Amino acid sequence: MAPRGTPPTVSPQRRLVELVRASGQVTDPRVLEALGAVPRAEFVPAGHRGEAYDDVALPIGHDQTISQPLVVGIMTQALELRPHDRVLEVGTGSGYQAAVLRRLVPHVVTVERIPALAEEAADRLDRLGVDGIEVHHGDGTLGWPSAGPYDAVVVTAGGPEVPAPLLAQLADGGRLVAPVGPRHAQELVRVRRTGDRTECEDLGPVAFVPLLGEAGWPAA
Ligand code: SAH
Repeated sequence: MAPRGTPPTVSPQRRLVELVRASGQVTDPRVLEALGAVPRAEFVPAGHRGEAYDDVALPIGHDQTISQPLVVGIMTQALELRPHDRVLEVGTGSGYQAAVLRRLVPHVVTVERIPALAEEAADRLDRLGVDGIEVHHGDGTLGWPSAGPYDAVVVTAGGPEVPAPLLAQLADGGRLVAPVGPRHAQELVRVRRTGDRTECEDLGPVAFVPLLGEAGWPAA
């Protein structure tokens, strides 16, 4: 037993998961388990390791960021994943969100437009022994048609609208979660496809780096 007055040791990662739970915005135990299982410190640059378990977005180079853990939790939960869903992520970044998704489904396809980030993420996931994640370099606003259609699509950069190619690659019953709106302040939306119909819900304000590409903001 710990001596009286010594608080029990709680890991920074556990504390972060409890913070996300306490927000009341992430209630799915499988999502909380996934956040507790993926070591975020491995996905942030060495200079930011000390902040890896703070609930903040952090720079990962190339003017990009690893998202705030609470937002990763909210987006993952909003996808309503079932165990065999086919999942596409647009905006691999560090690979953290992909690794969280991979805890919930056997296979994740993720697309990143910056070649160095795609390569670093693939190497990192290999090093961590995470299999079942296909990292591609390309313009994710066009999706990744050859592996679709997808039951769940998550976009982790903010575009002016939901990219039409992503809707086209959404399976019947599929869910798409994306930040949409003006360049510096978006709304998180969830689109659900039923047959030829789509239904859109607003999940609240968010702030993401821009989605650059053919069906996003102009890259130049
Ligand atoms: N999901 C990431 C965070 C992403 S930051 C993580 O867990 O770390 C957003 C990422 O989207 C950046 O890496 C950016 O380069 C990428 N991005 C922006 N536009 C894109 C596009 N059209 N296709 C693919 N990736 C894109």
